[in-house]
Amino acid sequence: MHVLVVLPPRLSSAHLEAIAAARTLGTVTALVTGEPDVGTLARHGVGHVMVPEATESSEPAAVADAAVAAVRALAPDAVVLTSSFAGKAVAGRLAVLLDCGAVSDVTALRAEGGTVVASKPVLQGTWATECAVTRGPAVITVKPTAFEALEAPGPEPQVERLAVELSAATRAVTVEARDGRPTSGRPPLEEARVVVAGGRGVEGDFRLVEELADVLGGAVGATRVATDEGWIDHAAQIGQTGATISPRLYVGVGISGAIHHTAALQGAEVVVAVNTDPDAPIFELADFGVVGDLTEVLPQAIAALRE
Ligand SMILES: Cc1cc2nc3c(=O)[nH]c(=O)nc-3n(C[C@H](O)[C@H](O)[C@H](O)COP(=O)(O)OP(=O)(O)OC[C@H]3O[C@@H](n4cnc5c(N)ncnc54)[C@H](O)[C@@H]3O)c2cc1C
Repeated sequence: MHVLVVLPPRLSSAHLEAIAAARTLGTVTALVTGEPDVGTLARHGVGHVMVPEATESSEPAAVADAAVAAVRALAPDAVVLTSSFAGKAVAGRLAVLLDCGAVSDVTALRAEGGTVVASKPVLQGTWATECAVTRGPAVITVKPTAFEALEAPGPEPQVERLAVELSAATRAVTVEARDGRPTSGRPPLEEARVVVAGGRGVEGDFRLVEELADVLGGAVGATRVATDEGWIDHAAQIGQTGATISPRLYVGVGISGAIHHTAALQGAEVVVAVNTDPDAPIFELADFGVVGDLTEVLPQAIAALRE
């Protein structure tokens, strides 16, 4: 199979995972919306790169137009993107423009004959489903951390310019300015392999939660109580009305385990809870639990990890 992966010029671990996901189906061409990092692309087995001419816009509508041009030029069997907000915005547009099938939040991919079959968990991870995309190219967004970003070194890719005609709908919108969110230097919550989350039990002080997250190289999350209290930014909220996460390790600190929170961590592989109350519901889903005061438990954990 031939797969097109849609990437920005700066590649995060989620983008490298998307490339690895694409490689499970076949040979990979990358559509890069800017100056491509050919060294990294070569190390991850991308043999061919297309760069849209005349637009380096990262707006989903412009990226979808570029992807349509690449699909018309290459006729790939699948188009793979990350399951970020932007990736899903492009995927939806692309599926409409190409009149083909799309599957989001995919955790495994395989080719069956000429058909792409994508696995995805649904209903907060309680069901596993498989979707065969019968009208291609299959537009796929891959869930962060579901694939290993394994290297597959190859020769430096050939870079080709791609003529793109922006649609009237895309041209009708001009983005005048954009304010980036201040970055913490920590991985994005939805892509993180480790998440340390704090709840009401931290009583307004997230320093120990942040320190543990930094020792583990992880992201900081929170319950709605903590974000509503203004102890931490709303972007850190995990749950039904916040972010859905799928880390290898989740550590819940001073969190009771309400379903509105825990529904969004069904994708977590290992759940650790620290809580003073042995009857807290979070212990029902925790793989490891520590009954204790976080102000005593966390400093010891941090010191042990530092050692
Ligand atoms: C429609 C709806 C949507 C919602 N969406 C979300 C959502 O997206 N995300 C979300 O998180 N919530 C959401 N909620 C709120 C949710 O129902 C819970 O109220 C919330 O998750 C509880 O947060 P918490 O665990 O921090 O607080 P609590 O339930 O008050 O738990 C605090 C825990 O900290 C422990 N503790 C106290 N002191 C310490 C200490 N020193 N050391 C260790 N442990 C300690 C306590 O024993 C307790 O178990 C939603 C609610 C509704 C109605």
